[in-house]
Amino acid sequence: MFVDSHCHLSFPELAGDLPGVLSRMRENRVVAALNVCTTLPEFDVVLPVAEREPDIYASVGVHPDNSDTPEPTVDRLCELARHPKVVAIGETGLDYYRLTEPLEWQRERFRVHIRAARAAGKPLIIHTRAASADTIRLMQEEGATQAGGVMHCFTESLDVARAAMDLGFYVSFSGIVTFKSARELQEVARAVPLERMLIETDAPYLAPVPFRGKRNEPAFVPNVAIKIAELKAVTVETVAAATTENFFHLFNILPQIVNAKAPIELQ
Ligand SMILES: [Zn+2]
Ligand SMILES: [Zn+2]
Repeated sequence: MFVDSHCHLSFPELAGDLPGVLSRMRENRVVAALNVCTTLPEFDVVLPVAEREPDIYASVGVHPDNSDTPEPTVDRLCELARHPKVVAIGETGLDYYRLTEPLEWQRERFRVHIRAARAAGKPLIIHTRAASADTIRLMQEEGATQAGGVMHCFTESLDVARAAMDLGFYVSFSGIVTFKSARELQEVARAVPLERMLIETDAPYLAPVPFRGKRNEPAFVPNVAIKIAELKAVTVETVAAATTENFFHLFNILPQIVNAKAPIELQ
């Protein structure tokens, strides 16, 4: 059993082929996937998939790359996160790669998400790119430890991974770890204990080897597990079991609702 802890089923590359994407995922023993939200309007498309499909979960949040989009408030995020299939706040974080300063709005938006996650009692999905020092600093300043969460599609150094793990966060590896060029990241994956690790596709982007360059989808997440197993010299089953268990634990998903047809009220 594998789990894809981060994908974007509402992006056009996948949305037009959703029945095929879901059936290939299930054929590949991928028992759950977290469909991640990147804008508030997109949430209206993200949630219905989770409501309809028992093995798909949703998040709510506004990605740091989206500058021209409705700004979330703590109250709004908490309200949308009340749905039992909404298991996380994000993706949020900082990205200084695509956009340049002044980015105070991006930092403020990240703070709003951390406050919402604490208030809602749901974990954070954090995206960080070319901004790791500020990301960790804001997590510390806003008490992100109280919400917990995951550093998704991790590409930073082992020091950053350690700082995140010290705050109680998980580290999630994507198909990037399978790339020949990703030697440093492979060392990080070797050092991050399985107890703190998740795997993801971040589909439709970053397809793992041997699908590199193609459209990515949740069915490919076992290829990330295969690479991690090779790096750590353990079996694929070991990686699959640990990352699946971590996913259900972090996102507070009870085993009995994994196969439920309809969302069940938990509170
Ligand atoms: Zn991201
Ligand atoms: Zn993403």
